[in-house]
Amino acid sequence: MIYLDYQATTPLAPEAREAMLRWLDGPGGMGFGNPHSPHRYGRQAEAAVELARERVAALFPPGGRVIFTGSATEALNMALLGNEQARAGRAAAVSAIEHSAVYETAERLAGGRHVLPVGEDGLLSQVDDLPGNVGIVAVMQVNNEIGTIQPMVEVAQMARQANAFLVCDAVQAAGKLPVAMADAVAISAHKLHGPKGIGALWLRNGVDLDPLVTGGGQEDGLRSGTLSPALIAGFGAAAKLAAERMEQDAVHIESLWQRARELFGDWTLNGSADARWHGNLSLRRDGLDVARLMSDTRDVAFSAGSACASGSGKPSRVLQAIGLPANLAKNTMRLGFGRYTTGEELEEAAAAINAAAQAQGA
Ligand code: PLP
Repeated sequence: MIYLDYQATTPLAPEAREAMLRWLDGPGGMGFGNPHSPHRYGRQAEAAVELARERVAALFPPGGRVIFTGSATEALNMALLGNEQARAGRAAAVSAIEHSAVYETAERLAGGRHVLPVGEDGLLSQVDDLPGNVGIVAVMQVNNEIGTIQPMVEVAQMARQANAFLVCDAVQAAGKLPVAMADAVAISAHKLHGPKGIGALWLRNGVDLDPLVTGGGQEDGLRSGTLSPALIAGFGAAAKLAAERMEQDAVHIESLWQRARELFGDWTLNGSADARWHGNLSLRRDGLDVARLMSDTRDVAFSAGSACASGSGKPSRVLQAIGLPANLAKNTMRLGFGRYTTGEELEEAAAAINAAAQAQGA
């Protein structure tokens, strides 16, 4: 089986797995401690949490703090619903291609959601004036379906001019690119070779939020609940590795991208080829039935649009936002590759996918 679905989730790095095991049982059976307990079990676990916090924080620019959450979805909910502009009833301006964690959550704000359009290239087409009721701007750094990279410096300028609170979903960027600067930035361990069930919200110094989850007051009172040292240690190890290997991984992915573009030369690329993370190949082909393609290519794990949209049968909102009519949006497959993908796997997968597409007459 060949795994080409790196935007849905990434394989756990062996280093992250190793770091986690210690906080499940070892050493000396003392690894299970509650990091909030004052005895030795607790203090050891707390030290592991704080080491991981430093490692995750190193993915961000200086000048902020890391709050651990159960997922990036939770982190984005906290940032959008808990900031002072939200409390003041202001609206959120969000790009048309945001992940549902932002897109749906922004709709819940008392001030409502204002959608910023994107062009055919998958990039924001308007990075200047915002309506007067907007107090929050939420734009993702790298899109999960088409990989496009938004001009975050210009977005930050637009937010600053409007005195808006800036939220960035950096889930698909963290560990691959330097993370964008914003008031609040969300990331997820499982997209950078860490475990699932752990995310982080980075808050610029001086930013405070109302908590979504209250209780024991953990994480500076922002996110109550006992932390999981094993998940957090895995996240920390994955973040450290990603920071160390960022250049090496990017070189590897670039060579896979170059070859993939040749192998799929007669497919159409969705979104910009340049302002894009090159581990994301979203391709379409006239007349293709992507559901049939997936069932005819069972030894390759890839996706139609995005993992969430794949199961629903609905045409992707993101592909429609870049101007594809519903039928063309359904002709799209997404291949995602990364650190552990080999050139041989890519060749083999391309041969199987191209043969299955040709057999359909597409
Ligand atoms: N934002 C983007 C761009 C994503 O790709 C995902 C995951 O699919 C999320 C947010 C949600 O992350 P999590 O799985 O940690 O909730």
